[in-house]
Amino acid sequence: MNIVEIIDKKTKKEELTKQEIEYFVANYTAGEIKDYQAAALLIAIKINGMTEAETMYLTEAMVKSGKTLDLSGIDSEIFDKHSTGGVGDKVTLILIPILVSLGFRVAKMSGRGLGFTGGTVDKLESIPGFEIELSIEKFMENVRKNGMSIISQSEELAPADRKIYKLRDTIAATDSIPLITSSIMSKKIASGANNIILDVTYGSGAFMKTYEEALKLKKLMEKVGNLFNINVISEITKMQQPLGYCIGNSLEVLEAMAFLNGQMAKDLKNVVYKLVEKAVISKDKNAKPTEIREKIDEIIKDKTAYKNFLRLITNQNGDIIKFKELVQKQNNKQNAYKMFAKKSGKIERIDALCIAKASFKAGAGRERKEDEIDYFSGIVLNKKSGEYIAKDEPIAYLFLGEYITEKLKRKGLKIEDLIEEIEKNLQEGIIINE
Ligand code: URA
Repeated sequence: MNIVEIIDKKTKKEELTKQEIEYFVANYTAGEIKDYQAAALLIAIKINGMTEAETMYLTEAMVKSGKTLDLSGIDSEIFDKHSTGGVGDKVTLILIPILVSLGFRVAKMSGRGLGFTGGTVDKLESIPGFEIELSIEKFMENVRKNGMSIISQSEELAPADRKIYKLRDTIAATDSIPLITSSIMSKKIASGANNIILDVTYGSGAFMKTYEEALKLKKLMEKVGNLFNINVISEITKMQQPLGYCIGNSLEVLEAMAFLNGQMAKDLKNVVYKLVEKAVISKDKNAKPTEIREKIDEIIKDKTAYKNFLRLITNQNGDIIKFKELVQKQNNKQNAYKMFAKKSGKIERIDALCIAKASFKAGAGRERKEDEIDYFSGIVLNKKSGEYIAKDEPIAYLFLGEYITEKLKRKGLKIEDLIEEIEKNLQEGIIINE
């Protein structure tokens, strides 16, 4: 067996065997297969697809590339959650404390943002001191003792995914259904949770552009999860416009905190409540949606969920007081750059991708994994699709954190030029009908 034959087979649309897929994953992870060979195979997979059996073998081989956590000693239901990617997607930060308040445990492995999509790890790292690179032992201890923990993608769990994902990102192979399925499911299976909540997004700010594609992805992930005896709870959600009002790391943490204190953007509320509802019903078939919703309202009203959010942060050494001080300095609306509507009318559309690009230019995202980001940069929308806006009313606020401001100065670049460029993206992405 050799990689050239395997690539050749896939380019001819032939089905790969379990052994061939295992050979590719093991040898690429070990550095025996070169990046250009792996790239050729991944592009052939993107173009010609994979059968369900091939996707299963790929997932399994990626799980086997590293350690698998065993959380079976913990005697309550453990959830993990994953979104297939989005803009302004702070659902994880809200969902964890809610699930814990409802008596479940959460063991969550998260990634950093790449390209236009944000990552939970970056959002949490905007909180000074927050430790996300925990040892596996510490992560498991947190889940056991505190009922929840978040860890960044570890070298030890599904290392093949780290390597393959990084390469996919550089060769335009991120939007392939079998590759997304194996990437997400291998990480989730390796991290040991027996219940996985999947938020499958579609729209301009997601990898899947249409509902039909999202449905295919959802079904495939469910199938693979079930083959590994995992309870998969999945929901297809729209990612046409950013979720909620805030886009950017610290800003999204703030919006999550506001949510847990009862201030909820409608679209964000819909996603959170729906996912929790499905998660609860998957464990208790007799649970009623209205009762679950009332229970969520209750734990938000009596601050149980917010207190659990604070526990999540402090258990991993995050300093929420320092965070609030930094926010006060850098995310103060009075110092934000205001972008005004050029005409009056109904907001027809807020394009998630355009807004993500604007936030990216402000320093909130990274092009390469090793890039530094500004945790306090980003955009806050003043209105959402369907609302009316008057000419010269603020349509969005732009925040430029201290890091990006200093960087521009050091490079001798003018801040006004960057603001102009960002405003162009924002104006392009917000369509107003007179
Ligand atoms: N998230 C992942 O972890 N992998 C993908 O391929 C896409 C989204």
